[in-house]
Amino acid sequence: MASTTGWDHIIVGGGLAGTVLASRLIEASPKLRVLVLEAGPDVSHRKDILYFQSFNFIGGEFDWNYKSVPQKAFPISSGLKLGTKPQNSEAHGRAGKLHIESPISTGRDYPLAGPVKQSWAALGVEALRGLDMNAGQNLGLGELNENRHNGARQISSTVYPLAGVTVVTNVLVGSILIDEADNVTPRATGVRLANGDDYHGTEVSISTGAYRTPQLLMLSGIGPRDVLDQHGIETKVEAPEVGKNFNDHVLLWLNWRLRNPANGDALGSSHPRWGEARFGTGMPASYVVSTDVPKDGLRTAIDRDGNADRDRYLLEKPHALMRTSSWYYFGVPPQKPDGTHISTALMGMKPTSRDTITIASKDPADLPVIDPNYLTL
Ligand SMILES: Cc1cc2nc3c(=O)[nH]c(=O)nc-3n(C[C@H](O)[C@H](O)[C@H](O)COP(=O)(O)OP(=O)(O)OC[C@H]3O[C@@H](n4cnc5c(N)ncnc54)[C@H](O)[C@@H]3O)c2cc1C
Repeated sequence: MASTTGWDHIIVGGGLAGTVLASRLIEASPKLRVLVLEAGPDVSHRKDILYFQSFNFIGGEFDWNYKSVPQKAFPISSGLKLGTKPQNSEAHGRAGKLHIESPISTGRDYPLAGPVKQSWAALGVEALRGLDMNAGQNLGLGELNENRHNGARQISSTVYPLAGVTVVTNVLVGSILIDEADNVTPRATGVRLANGDDYHGTEVSISTGAYRTPQLLMLSGIGPRDVLDQHGIETKVEAPEVGKNFNDHVLLWLNWRLRNPANGDALGSSHPRWGEARFGTGMPASYVVSTDVPKDGLRTAIDRDGNADRDRYLLEKPHALMRTSSWYYFGVPPQKPDGTHISTALMGMKPTSRDTITIASKDPADLPVIDPNYLTL
């Protein structure tokens, strides 16, 4: 049982930001008393997480399983566990803590790599120099890079050591304790768990992700007054911007049935290739392709949206607006990789839609209300 008082720094949410912050704090000042409170479990020793080969964890036990409000009812995935795979490390940082691996560096010569590359070339999309999409120019075809080391994903809680940090997992924080004595700027003094237990400390950082951070702030009385009033929450800090300007990219999966599944081109097939150790060192995909969209169609869409002043910069030069990747397995959960399908993931990289995250109730266990307002203004 962790002490409930005397913490120098309490960090709520042990995902990517929370674990890196905790590790950096203790590295800089080893005497600090740092506490991380995380709603999910520690998965840093789970082989199925470290060596996963497909996105079939989506919708599983480590997914909060959010849904957007009805628009086209998109399911929304979000990690529920200690540590998250750092995604946007500098891809050339081979001397740093984070390692980068790719199909070529691990010898994963997928049989469909050649046809995929040729198909893009036939569409006029060329391979980037060195297949490197992190060399300053990313419009074209580059290799898939992953934060892995010898095939193991680099979960932030393992890459950024937490020795000296107290980590409590499987605890849901329900609100921030705020000192609002007269004539004093409101100050966070700790947190209250959903079960009513309190932890007190000098500094409190909230790193509960894009969906839960606004929820936790609102449950603590920090947010738009009308929303707080609606749910009977006392406003401690009026902050109308909390939960606003949410911006998310859309991802569309297309699945393709293979004409000749006996070739063993897709994960899930009984072909001996998939039993080789090297093919277990990364996701079964070779390339990521970044493309612009035709400017004429984009100009028409921007004019129709009526936000020309804001969005016209998209017309001024090429932008990586779409990202397409081919995955050699059946990509949409809950279907399992079956050896007979491959998938294409199409992602809109610069959505202009903005909308809100808000709360459904005062109960921290209730999922936040997510409205990404996809494919609108
Ligand atoms: C399927 C998927 C694929 C992705 N792919 C990419 C990619 O290729 N590139 C990229 O850059 N980004 C990608 N991302 C996004 C990336 O994972 C996030 O940007 C990153 O994890 C955000 O870090 P964070 O610390 O803000 O939040 P998170 O890593 O989500 O951490 C938040 C933590 O807080 C915990 N928590 C929430 N509420 C509470 C509470 N009330 N009490 C206690 N704990 C709580 C959660 O369980 C979670 O562990 C992907 C995300 C998903 C879901």
